[in-house]
Amino acid sequence: MVQLRIEDLEEYASKNRIPIMQKDGINFLVDYIKNNNIKNILEIGTAIGYSAIKMALVRDDIKVTTIERDKDRYDLAIKNIREFNLENRITVILEDALDVDITGVYDLVFIDAAKSQYIKFFEKFDKNLCKGGVVVSDNLSFHGMVEDDSKINNRNTRQLVQKIRKYIDYLKNNERYETIFYKLGDGVSVSIKK
Ligand code: SAH
Ligand code: MG
Repeated sequence: MVQLRIEDLEEYASKNRIPIMQKDGINFLVDYIKNNNIKNILEIGTAIGYSAIKMALVRDDIKVTTIERDKDRYDLAIKNIREFNLENRITVILEDALDVDITGVYDLVFIDAAKSQYIKFFEKFDKNLCKGGVVVSDNLSFHGMVEDDSKINNRNTRQLVQKIRKYIDYLKNNERYETIFYKLGDGVSVSIKK
C-alpha cells in the first residue's frame, strides 16, 4: 500500500469540511515546539489527527495525548495515526474534554475544540501544565469575525464571537500567564505560565 502523506490529510479535511489548523498556524505551532524543546503535549480537539501527527513528527521524543468527542473523527484519527506509525507516541482519548480526568503533566496544552468552552478548557487543564509551560489556543479570529462585526451573519455565530472575545479578555487579564496574540492562520495565542 502507498504511504499516506500529510497532504492527503489536508486534502481530506478540505473536501470534508473538517476544520484542521490552517497552514501558517500549524507551521507556527511546529516551529514553537522545535524552538522550545517541547516534549509532552496535550491537545483538546483531535479531529482526524492532522495537528497531532504534525506535532509528533517534529522529533521522535515527542509524546502527544489528544482528546476527541466525536466517534467517527476519533476512528479516522486512530487509523491515520497508525498509517504514520505514530501509535506509540500519540494517545487518542474518545471523550468530551470537560468530562475526562487527565493526570499527566505537559509542557504544552493546545486548545482547538468548541470555541464556546475555551475558558473552561483553560481552567480545567491548568493543573496539567508545568511551570513555564504554555497554552496555545487556535481560532481566536474566527474567520475575521472577532475583529470585524460586519462579517457576522447570524445570531448563533454572534454568540460564539462574543465567547471568543470573552476568552481573549480573560487571557489578557490573567496575571498568572503572559499571553501574546498572533494574527496567523485563524488567530493563535501563546500563553506562558509564570
Ligand atoms: N486540532 C485539529 C482540528 C480540531 S477541529 C487539527 O488541527 O488537525 C475541533 C475538534 O474538536 C472537532 O473534531 C470536535 O469534534 C472536537 N471537539 C469540540 N469540542 C470538544 C470537546 N468538548 N471535547 C472533545 N472534543 C471536542
Ligand atoms: Mg482550529
